Amino acid sequence: MIIDFHTHSFPEEIAARAIAKLSGPSHMDPYTDGTRSGLLQSMKEGGIGLSVLMPVATSPRQTTSINRIAIETNEQSDKTGLASFGAVHPDNTDYRIQLRTLAENGIKGIKLHPVFHQIYFDDIRYMRIVDCAAENNLAVTIHGGYDIGFPGQDFVTPEHILPVIKEVGHKKLIAAHMGGWSCWNEAEQLLACTDIYLDTSFSLMELYYHSGKRIEHLSNEKFCRIVRHHGADKILFGSDSPWVSQKASVEAIRESGLNENEVKLILEDNAKALLK
Ligand SMILES: [Zn+2]
Repeated sequence: MIIDFHTHSFPEEIAARAIAKLSGPSHMDPYTDGTRSGLLQSMKEGGIGLSVLMPVATSPRQTTSINRIAIETNEQSDKTGLASFGAVHPDNTDYRIQLRTLAENGIKGIKLHPVFHQIYFDDIRYMRIVDCAAENNLAVTIHGGYDIGFPGQDFVTPEHILPVIKEVGHKKLIAAHMGGWSCWNEAEQLLACTDIYLDTSFSLMELYYHSGKRIEHLSNEKFCRIVRHHGADKILFGSDSPWVSQKASVEAIRESGLNENEVKLILEDNAKALLK
């Protein structure tokens, strides 16, 4: 079963607004309408058995309601094929309670987005959250590298990820976008061979801005080199749906030049083991 470890969806009533708000600064169009039904349709098309949703709390006030929805989503995942991570904001003083509640309710991890939070990832607040997540056996997915909507902002580039790996040593830390969107050389130099997992979202696909200009991405050659340098057992397939087609994302992995065994680890086995 193919597991997409990096997806997003928004409640029907706010999806259009949320997509418009995000697609403005990123200067690109989404592949689906950002709703849950849009994601389910995309999964059918791409042969995806399970999509893991990665909500982000952009203010501390949102955390409780995001996590309530995450728990409800997760409880239905056998029926829907949708699992959800939870979220915490670095200014949530109740983060210990939030994380324990998530773990007690069967949630497997949380997402943190330092660019949206405008706080460096090696800040003590994130270190405490990652440490507490590890205690609760919760995986932590972070945005990795620059963000297409926030040019030049280095809140979670590899040099700010490495201190957290060294200091906290959480075995279930996952950096999206192959560890560093638009700074892949730095990601390879600093993160390859550490314990961190990397997800493939928004790294290998050829995508375009509204203007028709191509969005920076990894060549097959470089992608395969990073996978083999880091270890295929530490790479997770992610699409970043609704922004990218899940079907095309799976094909990109299959056609990247990796062998059958490496492809199976990335599309299926690594995620399955992490979510167990
Ligand atoms: Zn994402």
